[in-house]
Amino acid sequence: MCGIVAYVGSKQCQQLMLEGLKRLEYRGYDSAGIATIDHGKIRVVKTIGRVANLEDKLETVGAMRGTIGMCHTRWATHGGVTDFNAHPHTDDKSGICIIHNGIIENYASLKTYLEEKGHRFVSQTDTEVLAMLIGELYDGDLEAAVQAALRECTGAYGIVVMCEREPETLVAARKGSPLMVGVGDGEFLVASDGSAIISHTSQAFALEDYQVVKITPQGFRTSTIHNVPVTPKVQQLEIELEEIELGGYSHFMQKEIFEQPKALRNTFRGRFGIEDGRVVLGGLADHAKELVKAKRVVLLGQGTALHAAMIGRYLFEDLAKIPATSEFSSEFRYRNPMIEENTVAIAVSQSGETADTLAALIEAKDRGALALGVINVVGSTIARETDAGVYLRVGPEIGVASTKAFVGQVAALTLVAMWMGRRRYMSADQCSSLMKSFEQIPEKIERVLATDEHIKKVTQKYVDRENWLFLGRGYNYPTALEGALKLKEISYIHAEGMPAAEMKHGPIALINEGMPAVFIANRGRQYEKVMSNIQEVRARGGHVIAVATEGDENIRKYAEDVFYVPDIEEPLSPILTVVPLQLMAYHAAVLRGHDVDKPRNLAKSVTVE
Ligand code: GLU
Repeated sequence: MCGIVAYVGSKQCQQLMLEGLKRLEYRGYDSAGIATIDHGKIRVVKTIGRVANLEDKLETVGAMRGTIGMCHTRWATHGGVTDFNAHPHTDDKSGICIIHNGIIENYASLKTYLEEKGHRFVSQTDTEVLAMLIGELYDGDLEAAVQAALRECTGAYGIVVMCEREPETLVAARKGSPLMVGVGDGEFLVASDGSAIISHTSQAFALEDYQVVKITPQGFRTSTIHNVPVTPKVQQLEIELEEIELGGYSHFMQKEIFEQPKALRNTFRGRFGIEDGRVVLGGLADHAKELVKAKRVVLLGQGTALHAAMIGRYLFEDLAKIPATSEFSSEFRYRNPMIEENTVAIAVSQSGETADTLAALIEAKDRGALALGVINVVGSTIARETDAGVYLRVGPEIGVASTKAFVGQVAALTLVAMWMGRRRYMSADQCSSLMKSFEQIPEKIERVLATDEHIKKVTQKYVDRENWLFLGRGYNYPTALEGALKLKEISYIHAEGMPAAEMKHGPIALINEGMPAVFIANRGRQYEKVMSNIQEVRARGGHVIAVATEGDENIRKYAEDVFYVPDIEEPLSPILTVVPLQLMAYHAAVLRGHDVDKPRNLAKSVTVE
């Protein structure tokens, strides 16, 4: 969830490691730390707060020297947010130093064992336990000690370890928490995300679960935790530097909202065969027969990805005529889910690392489902676990509050539903006409983005309200949930999203004078019903903000404020209606003075349960 950057080579490494760490700041964290080996001695500096706080501290206590080192941003799981609990952690015997992403689940029993052996702990973290265990097992071979220690651990880890007695060696390992190794000329970087590597080298490989790599300036050796050698595939990193830089925008979230038209053009590129009414999805081709026979689709996700999955449910029922459900992965994995024959499970995740979604997918797969992924990050863990899938191709998403990945997920799910529908019930003409509408979406989003100033002005009117409702029906019920989530995530305003009809069954009691209620009221099957729900709110003094279809003047009679979106077929509408809600949440957060790209308590890719 948080950040790892480590270096071994011939350069003084403090600066380059910190630059890499800053590229990972978006992932969310609460403390930062750095260690290097200088003249055979490990030195650690760490602090709660931002990487900028760490830099201030380094100014005071003196810069780090050394051509080998590691730095980390921690997102606390075990032990409070304190300087002592921040990483790196050291052992008390062998000069071991470690940074760690993830959770060592059996840390308590290991700690008791190590305390009995006389070790004294200074933090409450599970990570320090791993440092002590490696130190306890160390007898002159760091790689062997790490392998042996990890054989005793359960849980998830991406770790980097170094040791005073082998001052030119880094050892890194992973299980369930991503790690990449950047391969340069006489120098190597290890990072939890390629964006921290790309400005130094574009050659890199990903460690697989239970793999360990030993790196020195001369080269590297990769093995399993059981010391079976493995050969990694060094590949070109597919990240453009401009994709991970702000480029004139104030925040990554803002940049990514405005990038949506371009992002979606990438999602569609080469996937529309309009002439013969066929969606082309190379990632599904090998499993076409099974997909045609599918009897049920189960969509799995968490947070924003779950909202995309919920829209997916409507899409599969409408466009492919397949019974579909959407579920919290976290609930699915611990239920006793019935997976009938010919079930397709679709994992929806931006990062492809979401721990609950990965576990849910594996559960579905074990029970016989065909596993599909709708994922943004190429080569991520979930992408590798699936039988088939569709990448979003929206580029790296850095804003913690997901925006372009959401529209990419909805678009990709629509393509899968059309692909399946076309092989079952949908005519070539129907499919072509839908594709033509689809192609107009980027230009239509641009029209919504052009109303940004108006959205900001409206947001300003309500920004001091602490309680909001978001209401929609059908395809735009999940959009309402997404609008509420966006507002909560970055503005810390309490917002509830729900199906508009549900309001009468309780939540209407909340409505009082001046409470903002955002209705997704675009033209569609349930337009009239939504109008009635709007009246109910108005009658109780609520202020209605409506997302409506361009040209709908009628809505002005009912709503104080209107955000217009261009007309489009209903199944495609959430991709447009969500845009004003994203912009409104963005402006609310900025107006309230919050750090939009680093919302409190949140992390970008949730690799713990
Ligand atoms: N479990 C470790 C801790 O709480 C690591 C958390 C993280 O992934 O940053 O210190």
